[in-house]
Amino acid sequence: MDILTNFIGGQQAAPANGQYLDNIEPATGQVYGQIPDSDKQDVDAAIAAAQRAFPAWRKIDAERRADILMAIAYGIEARLDELAEAEARDNGKPVSLARTVDIPRAATNFKFFAQASSQFSSESHGSTDTAINYTLRQPIGIVGCISPWNLPLYLFTWKIAPALAAGNCVLAKPSEVTPKTASILAEICQQAGLPDGVLNVLHGTGARVGAAICQHPQVKAISFTGGTVTGASIARTVAPEFKKLSLELGGKNPAIIFADCDFDNTVEQVFRACFANQGQICLCASRLYIEHSIYDRFKQALVDKAAALSPGDPLLPETQMGAMVSEPHMNKVKHYIRQAIDDGGQLLVGGEQVTVTGRCEQGYFLQPTIFEGLDNTAVCNQQEIFGPVVTLQPFDTEAQALALANDSDYGLASTVWTADLARAHRMAEQLETGIVWVNCWLLRDLRTPFGGMKQSGAGREGGLEAMRFFTEPRNVCIKYG
Ligand code: NDP
Repeated sequence: MDILTNFIGGQQAAPANGQYLDNIEPATGQVYGQIPDSDKQDVDAAIAAAQRAFPAWRKIDAERRADILMAIAYGIEARLDELAEAEARDNGKPVSLARTVDIPRAATNFKFFAQASSQFSSESHGSTDTAINYTLRQPIGIVGCISPWNLPLYLFTWKIAPALAAGNCVLAKPSEVTPKTASILAEICQQAGLPDGVLNVLHGTGARVGAAICQHPQVKAISFTGGTVTGASIARTVAPEFKKLSLELGGKNPAIIFADCDFDNTVEQVFRACFANQGQICLCASRLYIEHSIYDRFKQALVDKAAALSPGDPLLPETQMGAMVSEPHMNKVKHYIRQAIDDGGQLLVGGEQVTVTGRCEQGYFLQPTIFEGLDNTAVCNQQEIFGPVVTLQPFDTEAQALALANDSDYGLASTVWTADLARAHRMAEQLETGIVWVNCWLLRDLRTPFGGMKQSGAGREGGLEAMRFFTEPRNVCIKYG
């Protein structure tokens, strides 16, 4: 039995209340570990540790800070196999995906922000002959980083790395469903020379320890990635205290496929966008709009690929589709499948839970699932399913495709598939999403602003946006003479 601890002030710490939660391996449905069910007492201890650490960490030489962050990146790389296996076991994702995407990207996050910390600069405005203004960007103090289960270490580090790079101390909470790699990261940070108390990792539920982090008056900013409902609840908690808040929330991402696309490549990439990580990536495409003239051919190509993709044991290197993250989440996705059928959708492929023989017999596996025949107002075209379920709709004109794509409460990411560059520009200008990918998906440059419009979030992370979020700007005006 793997029993995790919190990481507070550089020490492994049992929860003050002595309570633990089970950690279940989704591929087997079996409990294989326990994690602290932390509460406010642990948050208070972490705050005290962070307060002790902050004065020195904020003043540390920029080169030394960058060296430590870089050492963390190398530490992640050195434990790639162990981290990838832990992620696959905790989350149900294929170990090949964790090895090639999640864990390398976590290391890259630290490398990127190690460099950013030494490159960060601020503005000055010498506009008149009376005064010069410059902007001092200073660390905020203690910040909270709360991340979800779908890309556990990837998204955990996406927040922690810039927060540390900007000179803050961090209280970080991974999802209780996928806690393991956060604990390994804490060890790596310590070995890399991160001073005690600069990063504190607290395990437990959102309702208990997550809420306690958000409510603590000493936590001056919250960076949260997760569902829209949780984001709204956190916003209500922190608004009266005017804390800085960055929200990366849910999505219902459209893929718009024009007849002039590179057909084979588009089928390949769109399929990946639909079903990577069992459809549990906030950026996954879930509403596919296909130009009428290629609708049937494109549909058939997607259905053939989906029929050929069977879920398997996430720990086997050849597995391309793993388990859903938890039983409740699998049941939620199954509920949406039934809803789609009740609403008159035609099930083209999938739709069933799968039994994977051997050690995974009790696991939470679903087939890749495709529907057509649901109009844009259907529940499954409006609500986030966050699983391997997509819908297809035909369109005739560019204007119609745009209207359908924008007819959503969400606005995280969209993809456009076309050979017509002018059209790509027109679409990019009008799509109401924070990210527009043209002829690609999940191609990320970490310098770009990342985030969503509408109910997909508030604020942007990535590159300088993240460094700005994690600093407090102060205008200094010096009169000449
Ligand atoms: P949740 O919103 O349920 O949880 C996210 C995190 O917040 C978890 O660590 C959770 O803890 C914690 N939490 C829950 N309630 C509170 C609270 N009241 N106060 C503080 N923290 C709380 O999301 P999921 O983990 O289910 O992740 C899936 C969602 O994340 C999807 O909607 C997806 O679209 C979104 N997402 C968005 C991304 C983006 O960049 N826009 C990227 C990835 C995912 P606990 O685990 O205990 O509930």
